[in-house]
Amino acid sequence: MRAFVLTAPRAYEVQDLPAPVAAPGEVVVDVERVGVCGTDVEFFTGAMAYLHQGHSAYPMRPGHEWAGRVAAVGGGVDPGWVGRRVMGDTMLGCGGCRRCVRGRQHVCEKRQEVGIRGARAGALAEQLAVPASSLHALPHSVDAELGALVEPGGNALRAARATALGAGDRALVLGPGTIGLLVAMFLRAAGAEVHLLDRAGNSPAFAHTLGFAHVWDEDSLPELPFDAVVDASNAAHLPCRALELVEPGGRLVYIGLAGEPSSIDTRALVLKDVTAVGILSASPGLDATIRAYASGAVDPRPLVAATVRLDEVGAVLAGERPEGAGPGPKIHVDP
Ligand SMILES: [Zn+2]
Ligand SMILES: [Zn+2]
Repeated sequence: MRAFVLTAPRAYEVQDLPAPVAAPGEVVVDVERVGVCGTDVEFFTGAMAYLHQGHSAYPMRPGHEWAGRVAAVGGGVDPGWVGRRVMGDTMLGCGGCRRCVRGRQHVCEKRQEVGIRGARAGALAEQLAVPASSLHALPHSVDAELGALVEPGGNALRAARATALGAGDRALVLGPGTIGLLVAMFLRAAGAEVHLLDRAGNSPAFAHTLGFAHVWDEDSLPELPFDAVVDASNAAHLPCRALELVEPGGRLVYIGLAGEPSSIDTRALVLKDVTAVGILSASPGLDATIRAYASGAVDPRPLVAATVRLDEVGAVLAGERPEGAGPGPKIHVDP
């Protein structure tokens, strides 16, 4: 089978590899669609922290936002999976430690992450082997494109829920990339009034086409009471700015990662009676995301700018826009 492999920083090949065989407890999936995200770009450039912490190493095959159909099951796996369209949890906990037992396998110390950590090959290939326990079945109304948007959606849904906002509340989302826009969509579906903060000079036109009227930059942002602020940016100064902007008694949700540490003054957190939450991974939000997509409560498809082949992934990771790409932030791959 063909697979996209990073061999070193900024070096890659589309290789012909032996097709995976379903091990006991695992399935092999025919991959239909894969999303490329910022984490994959960090592996391409070599900036990803896991490379420096010993959790990941080249050669590696990225791809953790995927959907496909189960082609084969290994020993001990329900054969009823064969032929079903699925997506899979990126986070594969060990299953036995205290965190895993308490339902927090996504922060298991010994976890693998599909296409990211612990030598677990990712989905940028014609076929992918994953544990059956990581699968989530997709209903008919969730096609492969939507299915590959469940993983980023699960992260965003958890961030939106962490704001605890509903009808009549006002949210501010910093950083309208894929995650920021998905957070905004889930907040809107919950009834909140959503504002977006982008970098100065970026066009608000795309966010407007998604129905978000309130798009600002740091100079134009109006002085409004924001009941929650979600930082989905990669700007090191914005976590602190978020604390300045949130209403007393409100909530701060941090899901973005900057390239350097950010500081906040915890005295402000105390004196404003603010709750701050960090979000890593989609795991506890996957099923609810699938339901939101299946019902149409959230439709993330306009975020996909283009769908390319494996041979074009290297150029995409290097920052090139595929020919004819739309305005959305997400590139999909059909391997
Ligand atoms: Zn991702
Ligand atoms: Zn564990």
